[in-house]
Amino acid sequence: MTGPRTVLVLGGTTEGRAAAAELAARGGVRVISSLAGAVRSPRLPDGEVRIGGFGGPGGLARFLHAERVSAVLDATHPFAATMTANAAAACTATGTPLVVLRRPGWTPVPGDRWHRVGSVAAAAAAVLPALPALPPGERGRVLLTTGRGGLAEFAGVDAEFWIRAVDPPDGPLPERHTLLLDRGPFTLDAERALLDRVRPHVLVTKDSGGDATAAKLVAARERGIGVVVVDRPGVPPGVPVADTVAAALARLPC
Ligand code: NAP
Repeated sequence: MTGPRTVLVLGGTTEGRAAAAELAARGGVRVISSLAGAVRSPRLPDGEVRIGGFGGPGGLARFLHAERVSAVLDATHPFAATMTANAAAACTATGTPLVVLRRPGWTPVPGDRWHRVGSVAAAAAAVLPALPALPPGERGRVLLTTGRGGLAEFAGVDAEFWIRAVDPPDGPLPERHTLLLDRGPFTLDAERALLDRVRPHVLVTKDSGGDATAAKLVAARERGIGVVVVDRPGVPPGVPVADTVAAALARLPC
């Protein structure tokens, strides 16, 4: 094949933007970043950008063929399991090299009071058991930072929720809730101030990893607040995984 090599970066993350910027700066590489279109005003990466789903693994396979993509970097969020599975299937079907970039998950340190669960549904079930003993008549307060998806799981939980999300969620929500529309990165001072204002008994988070949203864990530890942590889904077997942008780019054949 002649002409520049084309790399498709499945993005929507800080790492996806960093990888696109590095590839675009190399020269001789055409970079197409793909965003889901889930966020109203996404931060746009360098290089070409396309927005919206491909239409499942078949649609992605057709895109790889039409755009003569030479390699795919899956830099989606660790919880974007459907896209990651679709990328693995489409790359296998088309013989396109694929590398998954997954930043490491968070690790508890002494003083953390984490309850690990396997899904957002399990997190909803874990909220009430994770509450400390409360005086009669006091309702549990929960700071929910799992994003817009899966909030319906918490709709039947009898607690007062503060829901932090980038865009307003749709679908069923807990009866008692306050929306906090905000987008990271969040500083430690800002997270301390938020916890001191909301005074949650429990924080709920996905194990997203990375620095941008880790400060809440430190602030929760300092205040002795329990944290329900949703474990990440796995990566399809046999797909190479790198945990930094540099390591992922080193493994990409371009
Ligand atoms: P998902 O459940 O794995 O994906 C659902 C569908 O959205 C996919 O089947 C695909 O549609 C489309 N899609 C997802 N990522 C795409 C991308 N980068 N380019 C084009 N289409 C994409 O993913 P999700 O959890 O909804 O996340 C969507 C996006 O938001 C991802 O790019 C992810 O990096 C970002 N994000 C997710 C989270 C989270 O907690 N899940 C947090 C921060 C950012 P088709 O089947 O039609 O191709």
